[in-house]
This record gives sequence, C-alpha cells and structure tokens, in this order.
Amino acid sequence: MFHRIVCGPCQVEFQCFKNGVLLVDYASFGAYKSWEADEWRCPNCGTKIITGFADRPDHHIDPGFAKGIKAAEEAGRLRGNYETSPLGNHAPSLSA
Ligand SMILES: [Zn+2]
Repeated sequence: MFHRIVCGPCQVEFQCFKNGVLLVDYASFGAYKSWEADEWRCPNCGTKIITGFADRPDHHIDPGFAKGIKAAEEAGRLRGNYETSPLGNHAPSLSA
C-alpha cells in the first residue's frame, strides 16, 4: 500500500518534481547499479527525495551502463547514492 510522502518538519505532501531521474549507487570502486526513479520535492522547504524506483536496476557489467550514466548526466537527470557523503559528511545519528 502506497501513501503519499510527507515532509516531517513541514507537514505537507511532497510533489513530483522530475520524472525519470537516473539514480546511481556508488561503492568504493565506483558506480555499480543505476535505477530509473522519480524526484519529489517538498513545496515548502524544497527538500528533494528520490523514490518510485523501477523494478530492476542496470548493473555495471551490463552493456551500455557507463553510456547510460553519461547520457543522464548530459540531460541533467543524474543523481547519486554514495555509501558515505561525497562531501565527507556522515549521515546523522538516528538517535539525534
Ligand atoms: Zn519540507
């Protein structure tokens, strides 16, 4: 069962901002999976989230994997999922 996504601080529903982004999962060795998904945004604070994933990802061993990432980047629809933040920050503690 799907319920619309709600921004906790703002208490309003997220709205679809961009259909068809390409979310790439990165590991220490680089890109290893890519997923078609959608980007949603809180209309109040502007926080963006990625959701609505396709059933299956493409894998780094699939033909055209790198080409697909490059095309998504050129189209402005590339998003990333890193094991740790590329900015060097770590996710905040859940108990905070
Ligand atoms: Zn918000």
